[in-house]
Amino acid sequence: MPIASINPYTGRVLRRFRPISRVKAEQLLAQAHRAAAGWRTTTFAHRADILRRAAELLRERQDELARLMALEMGKPVVDGRAEALKCAACCDFYAEKAEEFLADEEIKTDAGRSFISYQPLGVVLAVMPWNFPLWQVVRFAAPALMAGNVGLLKHASNVPQCALALEKIFHDAGLPEACFRNLLIENELIPQLIADDRLAAVTLTGSEGAGSAVAAAAGQHIKKTVLELGGSDPFIVLADADLALAAKTAAQARMLNAGQSCIAAKRFIVEKKVLKEFITQLKTHLLALRPGDPLDEATQYGPLARPDLADELTKQVADSVAQGARIELHGGQPKPGSAVFKPMILSNVKPGQRAYEEEFFGPVALVLEAKDAADAVRLANDSRFGLGAAVWTADLQKAEEMARQIESGAVFVNGLVKSMNELPFGGVKKSGYGRELSYLGIREFVNQKSVWIG
Ligand code: NDP
Repeated sequence: MPIASINPYTGRVLRRFRPISRVKAEQLLAQAHRAAAGWRTTTFAHRADILRRAAELLRERQDELARLMALEMGKPVVDGRAEALKCAACCDFYAEKAEEFLADEEIKTDAGRSFISYQPLGVVLAVMPWNFPLWQVVRFAAPALMAGNVGLLKHASNVPQCALALEKIFHDAGLPEACFRNLLIENELIPQLIADDRLAAVTLTGSEGAGSAVAAAAGQHIKKTVLELGGSDPFIVLADADLALAAKTAAQARMLNAGQSCIAAKRFIVEKKVLKEFITQLKTHLLALRPGDPLDEATQYGPLARPDLADELTKQVADSVAQGARIELHGGQPKPGSAVFKPMILSNVKPGQRAYEEEFFGPVALVLEAKDAADAVRLANDSRFGLGAAVWTADLQKAEEMARQIESGAVFVNGLVKSMNELPFGGVKKSGYGRELSYLGIREFVNQKSVWIG
């Protein structure tokens, strides 16, 4: 895809970028590799000062950053400011906690003393998506930098200005330039970078296809990877749940970032007794949300990030309907080629339909009927994905049992699935592997070294 900022709401091309050459990319990798040797010797206190300054800058520049996200990928400015603040909190979190998370761990063995020491790997390449253009990057960069690694960012082609703004924040905060560099490159150069001995590891957030391609290249060269891919998160509503709150949260969960979030609730698995009422209430909440220009303060959801994403979603819906799904709420694209997409609800979602088998990365709620709790868990697990899940019920003991049975990286009971600094984030099955955030996230890109002293 060409590297360009194109406003998805108006279709206007704002700026085009010329990708850097193969030679230039190689030079930047060489610089990063040299910088890594120095950065790994700095103290946690020094790194924390820089991360705290980056947090301040994220807060100071939140309006500018929100505007960029609105213009490049259609996120409403209110949500964009919240994203900038969430990034600031993540920088502060790791500035505060990294030393504790990576402290030597004493282990009793037959040695006089033995312990695990956590040491940086070196240069880590981050291939990142457009849906949370700041957050996806910062939740990699903050722990990686605090651990003593350096980062090379290959951002999605439609958010180059967000990538540059973030790079500038780290540099303005005092990070040596070569310790975090944005590479304006096309995907074709990624295998070359991965093959280079100076690159230690790769993390990717995005689609299964991109994840598989990057992990294959990394596997060939024995490089560590973390993959955070798609999800088709189940949102289970049992008959004894607080239905009003569940339906309200369901709308919120489906409409996160206009439905373009890996942990947005996508499959609503509802016990038969409350199915009809749930759909009625969900419809009311979805219709109450205000669409519009993402630059407008009153807008609650904007367009999808690119017209091709909306075209594909329309096709997924049309195919599912042809396969037997029923439209409960009409919405969708006003016309082909438009990035605007109004919320929809499909019911009667059954195996074999695209709605049952695939991820719907946009504002379409898929409703499945469950006979009981066990059937709900069966349906939840009958998916290639396993990222997040929600369970709504008044019976907390039953909820906990269900949480253990559901195949996913996270389960939230009576609440909205979200990413938090304190809790690990990641998936199983085709949703990927490895964890971000928490103490587990910072331990992904380190050498977990055993030291045995006789
Ligand atoms: P992609 O997976 O294509 O994009 C994510 C990142 O991967 C981008 O930087 C992209 O670069 C890069 N990339 C794409 N193909 C390759 C490749 N073969 N080798 C190396 N890097 C690659 O997502 P899309 O923009 O196409 O979105 C489509 C689908 O991806 C969505 O419908 C959703 O299912 C999933 N997705 C999941 C996200 C998540 O949060 N887990 C986020 C975004 C998308 P470039 O932009 O230059 O192609």
